Amino acid sequence: MSHLISVQESLERILTAFSPVETEAVPLREAYGRVLSRPVTAPFDFPPFTNSSMDGFAVIAADTLPASTDKPVWLRTVADIPAGSHFDGSIRPGEAARIMTGAPLPEGADAVVPVESTHIGARFDGSAMPEKVGILQPVSPGDNVRPRGQDVRAGAPVLSAGTALRPQDIGMLASLGFTSVEVHRLPRITVFSTGDELVQPGEDLTPGKIYDSNSYVLRGLTRQSGCQVIDLGLAKDDPDQVRALFEEAVRQQADLILSSAGVSVGAHDYVRQVIESEGELSLWRVNMRPGKPLTFGRYQNVPFLGLAGNPVSAFVGYQVFVLPVLQKLRGLPALQRRSVKAVTGEPIRTDGRESYLRARVTVEGGIYRAVLSGHQGSGNLFSLIQANALLIVPSGVKSLPIGAELVAWLLDE
Ligand code: AMP
Ligand code: MG
Repeated sequence: MSHLISVQESLERILTAFSPVETEAVPLREAYGRVLSRPVTAPFDFPPFTNSSMDGFAVIAADTLPASTDKPVWLRTVADIPAGSHFDGSIRPGEAARIMTGAPLPEGADAVVPVESTHIGARFDGSAMPEKVGILQPVSPGDNVRPRGQDVRAGAPVLSAGTALRPQDIGMLASLGFTSVEVHRLPRITVFSTGDELVQPGEDLTPGKIYDSNSYVLRGLTRQSGCQVIDLGLAKDDPDQVRALFEEAVRQQADLILSSAGVSVGAHDYVRQVIESEGELSLWRVNMRPGKPLTFGRYQNVPFLGLAGNPVSAFVGYQVFVLPVLQKLRGLPALQRRSVKAVTGEPIRTDGRESYLRARVTVEGGIYRAVLSGHQGSGNLFSLIQANALLIVPSGVKSLPIGAELVAWLLDE
């Protein structure tokens, strides 16, 4: 039995071989999900001008001091300022301007009286501006006013490098007038499957054949992670076909060649042979279950990651090894897993390898509880689709009672 390498060590070794992909400028409209390669600072104050946060009347607060419902303070209206316009003049004592939310506060005014606190009542109904307005409640300087630069000041940091842009981030960039941003380009990931037993859904399932499912899973996960997927299809256990896929991946300028199966001591596994003819390859036995065999190497200059072939092994291998690589390629900081501490709802046994068990995690009264979602065989996709988490049993632990606390990686968004 050769040496088992730990999950941690294999992941560290893999990650050192990758760095973030180059950057490019993209129009703001296409920036969703892309990762900023440079920090963004505000080019101007936001809001860019002092404005009203209410529909009402811009006033000099001191004028309103004696106002009450019984004894309104009457002010002469000298301007009407809808949103999008502005008033060049100045408000003097005894005067007011009708103003709408978002309109610039006129010179001289220092507060806004909401329309509800005037003789007009509830709200404006499209009526013409009155000649004077009765103020029913005093306001203090600054009331219902959003000062220029309240949100961000010119030159202030707004978004840091390594941010995956969310809709609200893009909204902020738009409000600061950006038309494009500097981001990492999309990493290009080629995906293929190998095996004489594999056929595509739609083809006949003749004796001994199964449908290729790993490509579907790996393509979906890769897309979900924000990378570009290039589907290279299937290769038979045939050195020429396998070589043709690697050549195609190089032509496609892949940042990573991702595959499953076909790298073992199996008599018909040609992936190893092909890679070794044009690059280098390490075959690891990782101290984990499922997903023990893992291949990492390079075909010409393109990194290659070969996951174990069984469908759940490939899925778990993706979560453990591929996702952190893709995040790094995209320019994101080290992956923070979405995980919780969960209490087991049943006794658990493993063979002592670090185990990634398919489980359903529910939360009751603030406590996460995990139960296994079905048979844990590494070929059983059905128990994987019943699961919403991978429950992690550390290496060296072979049995756990009900109520033991484990880390669970949450799988669903
Ligand atoms: P291998 O690593 O080639 O020995 O494959 C291990 C197991 O995974 C075998 O039962 C294969 O039939 C199965 N397998 C390999 N590739 C795929 C695939 N793309 N889709 C579904 N099952 C696969
Ligand atoms: Mg095979």
